[in-house]
Amino acid sequence: MGPLYGGRFDKETVADGGQLDLEWLEETYKEFHREPELSTAEERTAERIIRELGYFKDWDVTTGIGGYGITAVLENGEGPTVLFRADFDGLPVAEKTDVDYKSKHSQLDAQGQRVPTMHACGHDHHTMSLLGAMRVLDGTRDRWSGTVVALFQPAEEASIGANGMISDGLGTKIPRPDVCLAQHIIAGPAGRVFTAPGPVMTSSTTIEITLYGRGAHASMPHRSVDPVVLAASTVMKLQTVVSREVPPNQFAVITVASVEAGKANNVIPDSAKISLSCRFYDEALRKKCVDSIKRVVRAEAMSMGAEREPSFKFVGMLGATNNSEEVFTTIRQNFDQAFAAESVDMEPWTASEDFPVLPRAFGAPYMLWTVGITPRWQWDRADKAGRLDIDIPTNHNPMFLPDLKTLPVGVRAAAVGVLSCLQRAWERPEDQADDSTYRPTAPTDQDIDEVAVETAGAD
Ligand SMILES: [Zn+2]
Ligand SMILES: [Zn+2]
Repeated sequence: MGPLYGGRFDKETVADGGQLDLEWLEETYKEFHREPELSTAEERTAERIIRELGYFKDWDVTTGIGGYGITAVLENGEGPTVLFRADFDGLPVAEKTDVDYKSKHSQLDAQGQRVPTMHACGHDHHTMSLLGAMRVLDGTRDRWSGTVVALFQPAEEASIGANGMISDGLGTKIPRPDVCLAQHIIAGPAGRVFTAPGPVMTSSTTIEITLYGRGAHASMPHRSVDPVVLAASTVMKLQTVVSREVPPNQFAVITVASVEAGKANNVIPDSAKISLSCRFYDEALRKKCVDSIKRVVRAEAMSMGAEREPSFKFVGMLGATNNSEEVFTTIRQNFDQAFAAESVDMEPWTASEDFPVLPRAFGAPYMLWTVGITPRWQWDRADKAGRLDIDIPTNHNPMFLPDLKTLPVGVRAAAVGVLSCLQRAWERPEDQADDSTYRPTAPTDQDIDEVAVETAGAD
């Protein structure tokens, strides 16, 4: 057992009351780490979390929400309702670290292929931070009042977990939150806690484009409209959208992440497929870039004499993570007290998250913050050598490995975040103030199509 709180924060509320069993924290984390499961297939991970929730006698637990989603609610008198979300899915990555608790697990993917799995994004760490924070909140409840919603979310990596929980009636299973919080670990000095108001993670737009040509014998290119050449020139031309059309001081990423064309060496195929992953902080710029992508793709096809227009399929769309100024101000002052010099400003992160789907559905303000997990010796050595970009494994890298010392930091940040938000009143937007009539909704496929249509103009 070690003290969880130090410094001046929480003198009146949790004082030194928050004691945490560090051995439990580490051992349970290792269990999750050894057996990561893919998005939507997190059956055993969910079972393990549910078993862990058996520790809490007074929390109201609901399971099987939108797949393996779980909530645990503690109603503890008058006060605001604060939701904290932890995701728990792993990735199809083969772990290459050399710790004794590394994952040797594998699982069948959606295509029925057996793939190695790894907690390469640290969702096992997030799960432990929430379980640990629940213990702190549970053990100190005579010193705070309000309602806490612990939400364990599946399928984050597939960007469908939060939507799935909302669509499955999350709004009728938990009290409506006034504030929503989430935490993500990142490559960064171990134990540093990063916060910022405003856009901190990008929106993500995924587009599958099919380019139609005319197939022919490989020896007779003049009888074809070659979609392989068309795909090649389109990929190159797309590089000019960000470099030539986006103002140099604005952020945009357009990555062609996959190209598929042809199966045989003597056949010119009749179509090619390219998949784009696009990231933005600014919605107007996103729309402009999607328009430019369509223009470029269509013009390239026309230039090759393609007889059929390329088709665009919008397969995924996530909004940007835009932290509330109010939530930031509420939490940051307490992080500064709890973590002193290790509470710093967060640089915007170019990855995307489906967490904001939850607060948006409830009309609640929200904040996502990050915690650095790279061992200090490793970080300092790379920093000195000017090799941070090369030597430090990022999220999704097979060598990504949180320093175990950051486990209690994650718990502490989660607990301080929730307690900060419990200590004040929150107002709801007027049009959503009536709880009895307000029901959260998830964006439907149709909504996503509408976004696509809207960005496509006449299309
Ligand atoms: Zn991830
Ligand atoms: Zn993640």
